[in-house]
Amino acid sequence: MNSPNPIDAISQGRADLIAWRQSDDGNWYRGNAALVAMVEHFAPHAGAQVHSHLEHFGRQVGASEGLVHRCSHDPNLPVLDRFDYLGRRQERVRFDASYHEWGKIIYGSGVMSVTGQAGRAVEQAVLMILSAHHGEAGHTCPLACTAGMIKAIQRCGHPALQKALLPGLLNPHYDRRLYGAQFLTEVQGGSDVGANATQATLIGAETAENPALWALTGEKWFCSVIDAPLYVLTARPDGAAAGTKGLGLFIVPHDLPQGRDVAQSPMSHTLFDTPREPNQLTIRRLKHKLGTRAMASGEVDWQGARGWQLGPLDQGFHHVVDIVLNTSRLWNAMACCGMLWRSYREASGFARFRRAFGQPIGHFANTNAMVAQVFAEACAATASTLDLVAIDAAGSDPDAVRLGLNMNKYWTSVRTTQMIRNAMEVIGGNAAIEDFTPLGRLYRDALVTESWEGAHNVLIAQCWRDMQRLSLHRPWLDLLSRRAGELPMSSLQSALRQRLAVLEVDAAELVASRNSDDARSARAFVENAMVAHQGLCLAELSQRAPTAIDPAVPQQFLAVHPHRRAVAETGWWPERALLGQ
Ligand SMILES: Cc1cc2nc3c(=O)[nH]c(=O)nc-3n(C[C@H](O)[C@H](O)[C@H](O)COP(=O)(O)OP(=O)(O)OC[C@H]3O[C@@H](n4cnc5c(N)ncnc54)[C@H](O)[C@@H]3O)c2cc1C
Repeated sequence: MNSPNPIDAISQGRADLIAWRQSDDGNWYRGNAALVAMVEHFAPHAGAQVHSHLEHFGRQVGASEGLVHRCSHDPNLPVLDRFDYLGRRQERVRFDASYHEWGKIIYGSGVMSVTGQAGRAVEQAVLMILSAHHGEAGHTCPLACTAGMIKAIQRCGHPALQKALLPGLLNPHYDRRLYGAQFLTEVQGGSDVGANATQATLIGAETAENPALWALTGEKWFCSVIDAPLYVLTARPDGAAAGTKGLGLFIVPHDLPQGRDVAQSPMSHTLFDTPREPNQLTIRRLKHKLGTRAMASGEVDWQGARGWQLGPLDQGFHHVVDIVLNTSRLWNAMACCGMLWRSYREASGFARFRRAFGQPIGHFANTNAMVAQVFAEACAATASTLDLVAIDAAGSDPDAVRLGLNMNKYWTSVRTTQMIRNAMEVIGGNAAIEDFTPLGRLYRDALVTESWEGAHNVLIAQCWRDMQRLSLHRPWLDLLSRRAGELPMSSLQSALRQRLAVLEVDAAELVASRNSDDARSARAFVENAMVAHQGLCLAELSQRAPTAIDPAVPQQFLAVHPHRRAVAETGWWPERALLGQ
């Protein structure tokens, strides 16, 4: 027998890769039956128009990899232009044209302008999930920040702020939109927001016509979307108490109308049309980041920058957590869902077309299992996230949502990083090549989603605190138990009920505990609670749409995530000895 012609083998190998890329029809919404089924489940009133809208946007996203690859490529990253050509201070950021092209597509979908519209929360979340299929947070980070800013202004903003800023924040036209950023973190710490030292000095009292005007002085260490026209900022008013209690919340514009104090006129048109100059701030530098690279994150000095008070001063911390951060934690999870679906798309397509040892690699049991797990986790993350979006929009269970979204932020980000690694392993060495797949970019971005908006242990500590102080596990477990009881009797239903019964016991122990070492059990509780929530959502979905989500998916999902007891599994580590004390 003649040995195969090496030229034929090379051609065939390359042809397989071309066929893989050509097999993607770019229909990233309709082509994802599980995602469509979830929209039908979580937004049962969404009509054909919503599905066509999502399909249209899904196709636009499917055709945009080139733009996103370009704007996150080293030579095209954002650049700080501190001065203009005449040497005037401007503190602006310059982006590659591809960044703006991609932004026009995203904002044009209406993802921001539908904020707060009745019945559109799930649609909005899926628009965000589709946008995040490319990972790169250049626009998805500002979307998350702006969503929180809109809510905060709607709920506690002075009427003049609402009138001046909301139309711009809800404007879908890229060149006429306002968008926001949120700055809490200072160099001395991100998690410990109560250590904030940025100072606020009152310079104009609130009137019926205008919010109070403040001068802000200090330094913020991580200022993402520093190009934004508006920032939400935490700062401590002169003489206010130490810790989180003494923090106020402010809206700070990047620009002021030239030669005029902004005090009496928080007018959005001053942010566009009138001659303007930068507020009293200096962007020291843009950070050189591991991920989310097309988005500009700066270190900023505030030198008496003008800002408007947002809500009562003594509610500043409460509002920034409950409204701003909790919103972006939910959006962070949506971003993770998008990256999970993209990883699945990459890995599953590759596994069908790439051949090794004479067969498609998807035929190897371990490869197949890895791809299947990415699918299951993409379904699980999307289901738990859309579930929270729907419950939040209904306003029926705010306490359950508060605990659920903190747990969900932690778990979805951790699982996303893990699953992108699965997808990279399926693709093999080519996954390390930046223009072969987007997985490298996604992986770097996923690592960032794990720490911003709350690092793991901080979220877990918050969940534990919320259980002890506010018993938030009660409405959460009641909600899950009620829904598990509504499933048809099956081994799946009894498995879920058993898990919930164990969670009840674990929760009671955690609530009673005064031992800080039990933080490890709190971590296990959060993970087990998330598996129960996601398993339940998958069971409901597979019951409703078994062709899109096979009933084996929830079974297998629960099997690969056994209920675990943290301390027993990890043993006890002598921390003080490890720290050398
Ligand atoms: C790319 C990027 C962009 C960012 N953009 C912004 C932004 O625009 N605005 C903004 O405000 N911030 C931003 N951040 C900062 C981010 O929110 C912080 O990094 C995050 O809150 C963690 O704070 P830290 O990095 O100071 O870590 P630290 O707070 O110092 O935490 C370090 C470690 O200690 C642990 N830890 C801290 N406290 C506790 C506790 N009570 N219990 C148990 N463990 C604990 C944490 O889990 C973590 O593992 C950004 C971060 C990144 C990476």
